[in-house]
Amino acid sequence: MKRVAVIGAGYAGLAVSVGLAHFGAVVRCLDINEQKINQLSLGVLPIHEPDMEEMMHLQMTEGRLSFSTDLAAGIGQADIIFIAVGTPGEEKGSPDVTAVFSVADMIGQYAKKDAVVVVKSTVPVGTCEAVQARLREQTCGASACEVVANPEFLREGHALHDFLQPDRIVLGAAGERSLAVMRDLYAPLVETGVPLYTTDWQTAEMIKYSANSFLAMKVAFINEIARLCDTVGADIETLSAALGADPRIGGRHLKPGPGYGGSCLPKDTEAFARLARQAGMPLSIIESVIESNQRQQTYVVQRVKQVLSDLRDRRIAVLGLAFKANTDDMRESPAISVIDHLLSERAQVTAYDPKAMKKARERWGGRIRYGKDVYEAAEGAHALLILTEWPEFLAVDKDKLARTMEEKNIFDFRNMYNRHQWKEHGFQYIGIGK
Ligand code: NAD
Repeated sequence: MKRVAVIGAGYAGLAVSVGLAHFGAVVRCLDINEQKINQLSLGVLPIHEPDMEEMMHLQMTEGRLSFSTDLAAGIGQADIIFIAVGTPGEEKGSPDVTAVFSVADMIGQYAKKDAVVVVKSTVPVGTCEAVQARLREQTCGASACEVVANPEFLREGHALHDFLQPDRIVLGAAGERSLAVMRDLYAPLVETGVPLYTTDWQTAEMIKYSANSFLAMKVAFINEIARLCDTVGADIETLSAALGADPRIGGRHLKPGPGYGGSCLPKDTEAFARLARQAGMPLSIIESVIESNQRQQTYVVQRVKQVLSDLRDRRIAVLGLAFKANTDDMRESPAISVIDHLLSERAQVTAYDPKAMKKARERWGGRIRYGKDVYEAAEGAHALLILTEWPEFLAVDKDKLARTMEEKNIFDFRNMYNRHQWKEHGFQYIGIGK
């Protein structure tokens, strides 16, 4: 039976832990955050991820999944050790890999000598090689550990589903032994036809950054076209449907919005661009994508100003704070820059999100107000801004909103609605690119 340690109980680490336990491995998920581990040990998932909590309970009950803060013991018992700690973006665009290296040093101290060390975190090119070098320096146990790069492509809001049904598995390695161990670990997926790409560390690390940069580029592209549609009077919805019908382009990630956000696309595009600059081979397309995404967030506020003119003391209800639906994650959410911008224009903001209210309170404290639902947020508002495409927003009672709002302006920055439905209720409807 395979004994797996997963270090880092975040979105990625939890999906890996629950998913591998589901495939039959005995998994111990480790984290330095005591509060998180205590919660998890009681069967409470500290993040919002559909289906994950139920599956986690099942694996815990069947004895394949446990949680601990004792990294040394967890590492010492494992045959395979996943590093899934955070690699947050720093000011200058390079990801902070301190946690990856500090965990690598612990692995060096406590791991069995032939354990396989898997880098799941998204890391710049050269990191896996550096982790291997750190392990080799150890005089005790872990000197023979082999490092594998195994980037993760899951989407928040679909984390478990994506781990259990990935589009591909990428393994970067320098040794045959570690590759064989990983092939065996992922056999339940490979046997069902999931493509497996084996390569070196550098290529595996590059694949992850290329994938996220490409996705960011698609989003930025359609957002730019939507801005142009607004200006020339064209319709982005028909345009993007017709564009995506070409299989060389593909229809996914071609929906305009307030800009991409989250814990991955912004930091990974910044990191990739920086890496390329340092290598003397700038990625001019990605540099433009980053700039274009910032422009989109500014554009959203400009659109509001075009209608309300002066925002001072205007009451704005912002619906949706998470960077996308089905997650409570607000990291780099466009809502952050939009709300900060509205506040700098002296607008009065009331916000509501089905899952991200706790994080919003931590972010803005008393600088904004919070609604307990859509209607409380919209009370007395001069405009309603939709920033996240939560399905529950589709079912809002437009009559009730019309009665409660001071002025009936709706800015649908996710293009969720049919404009005619709002017009029937007396609203001025402003979508994006349509
Ligand atoms: P997260 O912030 O949700 O979780 C990271 C966890 O690591 C936290 O619980 C933290 O307490 C823990 N941690 C930090 N330092 C530690 C240490 N020294 N020892 C033990 N635990 C430590 O992060 P995440 O979103 O799960 O991302 C983790 C990595 O996976 C990142 O590199 C990210 O880029 C990558 N990734 C994330 C996603 C995603 O959708 N979130 C998708 C693919 C890849």
